[in-house]
Amino acid sequence: GACSKPASMATVSQFACQRRTTTENSNKKITDAFEVLAENYEFNEMDGSCLAFRRAASVLKSLPMAVRSLRETQDLPCLGEHTKAVMEEVLRCGRSFEVEKLLSDERYQTFKLFTSVFGVGPKTADKWYRGGLRSFSEVLADRSIHLNQMQQIGFLHYGDISGVVSKAEARSLRNIIDEAARATTPAAKVALTGGFCREKEFGHDVDFIVTTPELGGEETLLPKIIDELKKQGMLLYCDYHPSTFDINKLPSPKFEAMDHYAKCFLILRLEGSRVEGGLHIAEGDNRGWRAVRVDLVSPPVDRYAFALLGWSGSRQFERDLRRFARAKRGMLLDNHALYDKNKNEFLAASTEKDIFAHLGLEYIEPWQRNA
Ligand code: ATP
Ligand code: MN
Ligand code: MN
Repeated sequence: GACSKPASMATVSQFACQRRTTTENSNKKITDAFEVLAENYEFNEMDGSCLAFRRAASVLKSLPMAVRSLRETQDLPCLGEHTKAVMEEVLRCGRSFEVEKLLSDERYQTFKLFTSVFGVGPKTADKWYRGGLRSFSEVLADRSIHLNQMQQIGFLHYGDISGVVSKAEARSLRNIIDEAARATTPAAKVALTGGFCREKEFGHDVDFIVTTPELGGEETLLPKIIDELKKQGMLLYCDYHPSTFDINKLPSPKFEAMDHYAKCFLILRLEGSRVEGGLHIAEGDNRGWRAVRVDLVSPPVDRYAFALLGWSGSRQFERDLRRFARAKRGMLLDNHALYDKNKNEFLAASTEKDIFAHLGLEYIEPWQRNA
């Protein structure tokens, strides 16, 4: 009966923004299996199935203890027949045969390999795979393939940027970005966002939000920071996107996941750091530095809270914030604004807490957003 079930499992919300999810995951075996399947659905552009497995994984990550039997999960949201079958197998045998089959599947392996290169997404991977290519050396030897600049850089620094970034490296980068920002704009504010603000141990990059206390000051901020990094000899790659944000165009026809703030996707040379066990294709091995991926975004200061909430992640948490706003509150949320469709007005916010309050949600700390 109900009394044998842990109380915490009986009341789990279907929305990640109503759950607290730390980096501690008691159900890693199951969620790892789900994530392999989700990734494969993504490779095959089966968005519905991909989302189903991502949602299911996210629910299990929020549980304070390991699931021991299928019965314990009967009241949990977002678990369908397929996810339950996989979970059952993992609980019973310690592994899922469907996942094992995928892990040794040539197509899955090749997509995984190709998409691990900076600048290569599922579409490019698919093109190369259909062209009969299976390895980096085959891609690099194929004269009919034109690599764009991002992909060239991706191969050049593959060993470094396919490795993880540590917390210590994120801290050094924070100081570097801080100094570069303040050298050019003394009042600039730098905030760590993304995975490292959620207290993850490792990341694939380091994300920062930079802004200025007075409105408009952010317009020249990113180019100045980029110049400063270049002057210091740290800039290995810079993909800069100027702002396309226009406050007068809100509410935008569709509230979207991508935002319009000025941003740049960088690869920086970080001195005094090395990738452990990295595989180096094109670089010498006796170096006292490594390449790291860094993202900078610079919203106007009056949009700061929305940008911060939107970039803190996780992706699943962000998705569910938007879904919750729309489905439960009749509101539209994106990285720029929160719009109340009932009152036909924008709701102002200067902190993340303001946004949670407008949505009638309990505040979830960044380290509890690892959905
Ligand atoms: P990881 O350790 O893998 O970097 P992460 O959570 O930091 O984990 P990122 O891909 O760096 O993942 O993304 C951080 C946040 O920034 C996410 O919430 C994502 O929604 C947001 N984000 C990333 N790229 C963009 C973009 N181009 N426009 C808007 N938001 C973005
Ligand atoms: Mn990140
Ligand atoms: Mn990022």
